[in-house]
Amino acid sequence: MSDATPKTPRPLGSISLNFIPAAAGDAVAAATHAVPGGTGVPVEAPVVIVGSGPAGLTAAIYAARANLKPIVIGGVVGGGQLMITSDVENYPGFPDGVQGPELMGLFRKQAERFGARIVDADVDRVDLAGRPFGLWAAGVEYRARAVIVATGADAIWLGIESETRLRGRGVSACATCDGFFFRDKEVGIVGGGDSALEEALFLTRFATKVHLIHRRDAFRGSKIMQARAAAHPKIELHLNRTIEEVLGADHVEGLRLGKADGTGEERLPVQGLFVAIGHRPNVAVFSDWIETDEKGYLKTEGATTASNIDGVFVAGDVDDHRYRQAVTAAGEGCRAAIDAERWLEAQDAHDGQAAAEVAHSGVATAP
Ligand code: NAP
Repeated sequence: MSDATPKTPRPLGSISLNFIPAAAGDAVAAATHAVPGGTGVPVEAPVVIVGSGPAGLTAAIYAARANLKPIVIGGVVGGGQLMITSDVENYPGFPDGVQGPELMGLFRKQAERFGARIVDADVDRVDLAGRPFGLWAAGVEYRARAVIVATGADAIWLGIESETRLRGRGVSACATCDGFFFRDKEVGIVGGGDSALEEALFLTRFATKVHLIHRRDAFRGSKIMQARAAAHPKIELHLNRTIEEVLGADHVEGLRLGKADGTGEERLPVQGLFVAIGHRPNVAVFSDWIETDEKGYLKTEGATTASNIDGVFVAGDVDDHRYRQAVTAAGEGCRAAIDAERWLEAQDAHDGQAAAEVAHSGVATAP
């Protein structure tokens, strides 16, 4: 898993990062303990799902309802990127919005209601050379007939202390999710790729002014996006500038910029900062096995969620660098569970036919 997102719960204003809603705590503990571990005996399941964001838990809901008794190895923290998101206003079904951690608690409760067993551990190692597939987490070996990889992607952050402290309090890595909150405000966005250019243009719908900050004198994004951003009356470019500090005690009040040639600094009076310097898919334990694309995301075949390994499926942001939304990840989780279910059915039919042929040939040759 990537280290771009902290693995320890952090306060986000008044938001609790407890993934497990209090009311569901006992049920979750029971479900987690229902998974044997520490005995040295491998735990077997028809389907093991890795990851407990919207993709992984939606896959768990569908797989559990298909009676595939899924085990979700969900990560030590779990819940994915929504755990560090405050208000979610674009997830369908919540007309008044919902807090990210609360939404993920509901996903989890729904998966457990149908019998999915969720283990709060990170997968350290996998062996996808043959079936059943092997996965190891917190000293326990899991054996699965099918695997769904839904480990997500993490935003890359600048890594300065003030950015971390003000995340969720004006600092965001998702303009699509949070731009709406900056209506009639001035915002900054940092990055020089297509994401920064596209999100700068998106933010002009809400903000009075968008400061696009890039550390070099040239953007790496496409020419057409550069031209659009440069021509937009609400966008002001700040080239050869680095962000030295996000100003503000408990919400963003400005930015302190450094000049790349070290000749001084500037201040910008913004109320929000969007970080758009790329994402990193969480592929660490899988990239030796599953094919990745040129950007490092796991590859799927055609219009399905199948990977290059028969019986291993992929869902969510770990294969999607285009949409990166909770609702699209959930949709992919659903597709992966259906693909896994059909694949297992086909395997069973094939095995049944093979067994019948062996039995038949045995009868024919019996003395
Ligand atoms: P990207 O192309 O990798 O660009 C990242 C940008 O962030 C670069 O300009 C880089 O600066 C800057 N950066 C990296 N680390 C930084 C740091 N620590 N401090 C300050 N700046 C930093 O990432 P992306 O824009 O997310 O795009 C990813 C891929 O998706 C690209 O292939 C892109 O074309 C594609 N994409 C396509 C679309 C579209 O077609 N509509 C939209 C979005 C993204 P340097 O330039 O100095 O390295």
